[in-house]
Amino acid sequence: MQAVYANTDYEPAAVARDAQVRGALAQTGIAFHPAKDQVVFDTDEVLTAAGTPYGVFTPYKNAWLKKLEPFYLQAYPVGRHAGALAPRPAGEAAGVPTLAAIGFEPTNLAALKLAPGTAGGRALLEDFSDERIDRYDQTRDFPAVKGPSYLSVHLRFGTLSIRELARLAWDRARAGSRGAEVWLSELIWRDFYHQVLHHHPQVVERSFKPEYDKIKWEHGKHADALFAAWCEGRTGYPLVDAAMLQINQTGYMHNRLRMVVASFLCKDLGLDWRRGERYFAEKLNDYDLAANNGGWQWASSSGCDAQPYFRIFNPVSQSQKFDAQGKFIRRYLPQLAALPDAALHAPWDAKPLDLVAAGLVLGRDYPEPIVRHELARERTLARYAVVKGAR
Ligand SMILES: Cc1cc2nc3c(=O)[nH]c(=O)nc-3n(C[C@H](O)[C@H](O)[C@H](O)COP(=O)(O)OP(=O)(O)OC[C@H]3O[C@@H](n4cnc5c(N)ncnc54)[C@H](O)[C@@H]3O)c2cc1C
Repeated sequence: MQAVYANTDYEPAAVARDAQVRGALAQTGIAFHPAKDQVVFDTDEVLTAAGTPYGVFTPYKNAWLKKLEPFYLQAYPVGRHAGALAPRPAGEAAGVPTLAAIGFEPTNLAALKLAPGTAGGRALLEDFSDERIDRYDQTRDFPAVKGPSYLSVHLRFGTLSIRELARLAWDRARAGSRGAEVWLSELIWRDFYHQVLHHHPQVVERSFKPEYDKIKWEHGKHADALFAAWCEGRTGYPLVDAAMLQINQTGYMHNRLRMVVASFLCKDLGLDWRRGERYFAEKLNDYDLAANNGGWQWASSSGCDAQPYFRIFNPVSQSQKFDAQGKFIRRYLPQLAALPDAALHAPWDAKPLDLVAAGLVLGRDYPEPIVRHELARERTLARYAVVKGAR
C-alpha cells in the first residue's frame, strides 16, 4: 500500500482522528490524502478580498455564487481509478465485516419510513425535484405542508452528493425557478456553517461572540424541570410541544420549528442553548455538528450572523402564522383536536365554552403554559443586557 485516500471531515474530533491516522501512516511510509467531498467549496475556497473567512452569510453567499462554475459541480470520475486500489490485505479476505459485527444495533428506520442508502435518497430527490422544488420558496415555512426536501439525513451520511443537488438547484434557478434559487441558498448555508466550524472550532464549546458567554442562564432544580418539560413536549405551548413530539417520535424536525423551539428554550425558558443543542444531537437523524451548532447559536443570538438578541420569537404568533389551521398541532396533539382553530395556538386564552365543548381540562389533559411569554421576554431582555458594550 502506498497511500490512503479519504474524504475530508470537518468536525474537530474527526480532524484530531485524521491527524492521528496521518501520523501513524507516516511512520510506515504511507501517505494520507484527504479530499473535499462533503461540501461544494472547501473551507478556504470562499474568502473575503482580504483573505479572511466570512462571518456573515449574505456576502458569503454572494461570493460563493460568484465563484460557482460547472467544474465545481461535476461528478468526479472515480470509477475509472478503481483498478488502482491496493489489493485487500491477507487476513482480511473475508471482506467487510457486517454492521452487527462492528457493534451496530438494528434501528427503527423502517418504522419511520426512512428509506436508507442512495436508493432511498434518490426516491426522495425525485419526489422533490419533480415540481415541489419550484414551490419551495412558498411552502418551506409551513410544517403541515410537504414543502422541504427531507434530504438532510442523506446529505449528512453522504448517500446523496451535495454537488448533484447543487447542480440541480443551480440549473433550475437559472431557468427561472424561484423555489430552486431559495433551496440553493439553504445548501449554501450548509457550506457556510462548515467553514465557520473549521475556522472557529471553539464554537463547539463556546459562543461565537464571546460576550454571550457572560449570560447567566437559569440553573438548578427549577431549570431542570423546565428543560424536562421542553424535551417531553409539556410546555403548554402547542406548537412547541408538537414540534418536540415530532423530533422525539421521528428523529426529524421541520426547520421553522427548530427555530421556534430553540428560541423558546433560550429566550422563554432562559436555558443555555448548549442544553438544547445536545438534546438535538441525541435525537436528530440528520444531526450535523456544524449545522446544529450554527442553528442553535443563531437562535440564541450568540452566533455568526445570528439574529439580534432583542428579536424574540413569539411562540403564539409563530403558531398563528405558520400553522394557522393547526394541522400540524393536531397531528401530534390529538387531545387539542376539537378546539376551534383560533383557540389552538394559546389554549389558556380559549373561551371556557370552547374548552368544555372540546372536552378539554387544562392542567389535566394538556398543561397550563409553564411560562408567560410576555414576562419571559422581559426577563430575557434583562438577562441579555450583559452583552451590551461587553466586547
Ligand atoms: C436549531 C437548529 C438546529 C439544526 N440542526 C441541524 C442538524 O443537526 N443537521 C442539519 O442538517 N440541519 C440542521 N438545521 C438546519 C435545518 O433545520 C435542516 O437542515 C432542515 O430542516 C432539514 O430538512 P430538509 O432536508 O427537508 O431541508 P431543506 O429545507 O430541503 O434544505 C435542503 C438542505 O439544505 C441544508 N440546510 C437547510 N437549512 C440549513 C441551515 N439553516 N443550516 C445548514 N444547512 C441547512 C440541509 O442539508 C438540508 O437538507 C438546524 C437548524 C436549526 C435552527
